Amino acid sequence: MKPLLFTFLFLMACPAFCADEGNISAATETVRIGLAQSIKEVVVEMKGISVVTDIESGRKFRSTKPSLYRVKPGGEGKTEMAGKILGPELRIMPIEGQERVRFNGKEYRGGVYIKLNKDQTLTVIEEVGLEEYLYGVLPLEMGPNWPLEALKAQAVVARTYTLTQLKRFSDSGYDLSADVKSQVYGGSTYDYPAVLEAVRSTAGEVLTYKGKLVEAYYHAACGGHTTSPLWDDDVIKPLRGVFCKFCRSSPNYKWTVTVSNSKVLDYLQSRGLSARKVTGIKSVKKNRSGRTLLLKFTTDKGSKTLDAKEFRTVMGNTQVKSTYFTSIQRKKDGFRIYGQGYGHGAGMCQDGASEMAKRGRKYKQILEFYYPDSEISDWRDADK
Ligand SMILES: [Zn+2]
Repeated sequence: MKPLLFTFLFLMACPAFCADEGNISAATETVRIGLAQSIKEVVVEMKGISVVTDIESGRKFRSTKPSLYRVKPGGEGKTEMAGKILGPELRIMPIEGQERVRFNGKEYRGGVYIKLNKDQTLTVIEEVGLEEYLYGVLPLEMGPNWPLEALKAQAVVARTYTLTQLKRFSDSGYDLSADVKSQVYGGSTYDYPAVLEAVRSTAGEVLTYKGKLVEAYYHAACGGHTTSPLWDDDVIKPLRGVFCKFCRSSPNYKWTVTVSNSKVLDYLQSRGLSARKVTGIKSVKKNRSGRTLLLKFTTDKGSKTLDAKEFRTVMGNTQVKSTYFTSIQRKKDGFRIYGQGYGHGAGMCQDGASEMAKRGRKYKQILEFYYPDSEISDWRDADK
């Protein structure tokens, strides 16, 4: 904390932090990523020359020295930064090409917006180019050391997914969140050569079906069959699910987990059952791919049928890795669940994509396999 405090004091005394009338050209093809919300104070660090814009008044302030910006609510719908009372929205932007904005231990190459909310908390948003955004998604959603053709398939899929999710969080002022609710995004903290190559060599490419963007879901491992999303019947051909033999060597191809009696009981009680003992759990409805949709719980006080996806979430998505249950057995200490795959199972199976790439398949073949009948188009031509 010491060096940060020092830089902050330095900024306060720094005559270089002054009004700036220069222009910052607006980037095109950008996405807005929510980096943090409902926080009381924002601390952002810059190494080189940066400009802070007060969006409401249009006033700009330039700092030519390493700076630490500390922003907090300033009362009456205003923000406060370095002793100045400013408008409800600020943008901090590096103006040197390679410079990054640092926030919460990560670095960002785009402009960082700090917005005041009605409840006197702050939201932090990065506005970044679509392609640059993908540089920060692939390392976390797949991995920088994965085979190049798998990374290229992932780049197309993540780009497509991003464009189908724009405005999802528009109430909060951004398009996508930087966590699992959208896609995990680490900013430009690391620029891995293979990731940059995968994104650049597929620049602008998206998956379409009959000219329209495909909702390009993806997941870690399918366990033998990918699934359509829940709205089974009217789903388009590329998302209906395919038989996949490529993830058989995945550590998540098959798994078992034991959920304790007390955890299951707590869950049932929270759903209105006054049971004291759970005697059985049975899969009573499956979709075409074999995923369980509904589970029936039998207890000393009757039975109840509940949503399998919800059960998985409550038990823990990292323990109960999917709803692709093959067997559920009653044991002394709880229920042993045997399952396959990791994740929701829709769209591309990443472990399968990796295996296909290792066997020499190109990214277009991988995409054709997991999204049958889809086409690769330039995103500017696709119906959104
Ligand atoms: Zn698979």
